[in-house]
Formats: sequence, structure tokens, C-alpha cells
Amino acid sequence: MKALVKYASGIGNVGVRDVPIPEIAADEILIKIKYCGICGTDLHIYADEYPNTPPVIMGHEYCGTVVKVGEAVRDEWSVGDRVVGELHTGACGTCELCQAGKPHICDSKLALGSKYNGAFAEYMSLPAWLAHHLPDGISWEVAGVTEPFAITTHCLIERGQMGNERSVLISGAATMGLMSAIWASRLGIKTIIVSGTDTDQDMRFPLAKEMGATHVVNVQRENLRDIVMDLTNGVGVDTWIECSGSGAAIKSGLQLVRKTGKVVLIGLIGPETIPIPWNTLHYKELDIAACFSSPPSSWQKALAVEGDEAPKLRQLVTEIIPLEDWERGFDMMRKGIGVKILVDMEA
Ligand SMILES: [Zn+2]
Ligand SMILES: [Zn+2]
Repeated sequence: MKALVKYASGIGNVGVRDVPIPEIAADEILIKIKYCGICGTDLHIYADEYPNTPPVIMGHEYCGTVVKVGEAVRDEWSVGDRVVGELHTGACGTCELCQAGKPHICDSKLALGSKYNGAFAEYMSLPAWLAHHLPDGISWEVAGVTEPFAITTHCLIERGQMGNERSVLISGAATMGLMSAIWASRLGIKTIIVSGTDTDQDMRFPLAKEMGATHVVNVQRENLRDIVMDLTNGVGVDTWIECSGSGAAIKSGLQLVRKTGKVVLIGLIGPETIPIPWNTLHYKELDIAACFSSPPSSWQKALAVEGDEAPKLRQLVTEIIPLEDWERGFDMMRKGIGVKILVDMEA
């Protein structure tokens, strides 16, 4: 079968290769992949800035159809079932974190698509405990963005405990920011401000409004502070959701949250450390929810509302490309063109 493989460490060393169709163990299913989305993480794996163990098949945002079922999981899965799934392969299942429903941060995790063969492939074997049935009526295009949607579900709902806000600032207008806007709108938050840069102007800002943003702010052309203070009677937003991973956005964002407000951290930063006005956290008594990835509980919550939000989620799929065009897809992501690009593994 064809698969996109990181075949050696170092920058690049990624290409389409012919590899054997995987065998499955008794507790696994074999999935014929329909779509696999290109993620920022894939660019970091390409650039060797994210831990990976080559040779490894890349890709972790997938959906597809079950074509083979291991004997131990036949009560739950049948050939022909439509499936989406998590990427927490290798999680031990027995440590305190796994037992608490947090395999996404288990020390033993070998993430699918970077340390475990992933989904830019015609077929993928998956331990069945990571698989979720795709609800009826969900299109493949929407199924293909379930993983990032589960992340925002985890960050805003589980970690952030959001729901009582009157106002939010979402910094960053790429996938995480736009999906956060979907959730903020769903929660009925009255003032939803999405901030970004010139790159977001033509496509992502209009999309942010479609997702439910009440205001969009281009920080390169407008004064974010003035706008936020204007909209919040001079006190700042109830909650700030940081999705940009930009040092400048992080530094300014802290000034825009009201006292006793909340900060939900989603975007990872490039450098190891950045300066932040630490005492501001104290003086304002801010609550911080730092988040990473998507535990099983967040997948259940995301899938429960995916049908409702399908019209919005579908708009976040900018383009669907065949595997042979993967380099163009990676390049679009690098340049910040569009939002999600799905690779059609059946094309
Ligand atoms: Zn991802
Ligand atoms: Zn564990």
C-alpha cells in the first residue's frame, strides 16, 4: 500500500513509499483510511522539531471504515463500521494517569503518526480501545476534523470549565482558534473576540464570523487593547483562550483578562521559554488551564455535538488533495493558506 513515511531523522526525509498492509493483533481493528488531515505537528515532524522515531508512517487526524476485526473485539466492531480514533497509542493503560482517563499524557504514549505508524496510509491498524464509532449522518469531511475538535472540547469544556462567561478573547484564527469560536458560540457567550494578523484577513476572519465570533481584530492594523476594553467596560474579558503560540500575543493577552478571570492555554510556543509578566497572574488572581491533546472523554463530548456543528466544521475544510500532492498541502499549511487540508487516501 501507499503511505507517507518519515523515513529517516533530520529535516525532510519524508516521502510516499510502498509498505506492507499491517497485520492486526486480537485487540485491534484494521481501518481503510478515507481522509487524514494535515496538522501543524506534521510540519514539525517534517522539520524534525517534534519527537519522532523513523521510519514511521505520518498522520494522526483520520477517519475511515473498518475492514478487519481482531477476535477479542468482535462484540464491539464489525466490518463496514465507520470509525474515527485517538492517537494515544502506546499508553500503558495501568498507570495512575491512564486509570484516571488521561492516556493522552501517559509517560509510555508513543503518539500515532510520529512514534507509531499513522494514517497517511491506505490502511492502518489501531488498538480498538482508541476507536470511536462515527455517528450516523456525519460526513467524512466533518469526521476528518474530529481530532482537533476534540482538542478544543478538552481545552474549553473539560480543562477550562467554560460556560458562564459573558466575554472571551480568542488569540489566533487558525484551526484551534476557529474551533474555539464554535464552542464559545455554542456556550452562548455574548462577546466573542477573535484576534489575528494580516495572514488571517482574507479567509480566516470571515470564517471566524461564520463560526460565531462577534468581533475580529487584526492586531497589525488595529489596537486590540482599546477594542477589548471598549467591549468589556474597561475591565477585560472573562476568559482568554490562547491559540496562537505567539510570544507577543501571550504578553499582551494577560493584560486583557479581567481580575479573577481565566486563561485557557492551547497554542504551543516555538522556543523553550518566553518572557511573561508573571506578577500579573498574581495581582489579577487569574485561573490558568494549560491543555494538551485530547483524552477519550473529550472525544465522546465532541462526537455528541458534531452533528449539530457539522455545517460550521465543514467550512473549515479548505481543500481535499490526493496523497501525491502532499508537498503542496504541507506548503499551504506552512504559508497559512486556508484552515484544514484533508488528504484523500482513496483518491
Ligand atoms: Zn493534530
Ligand atoms: Zn499510562
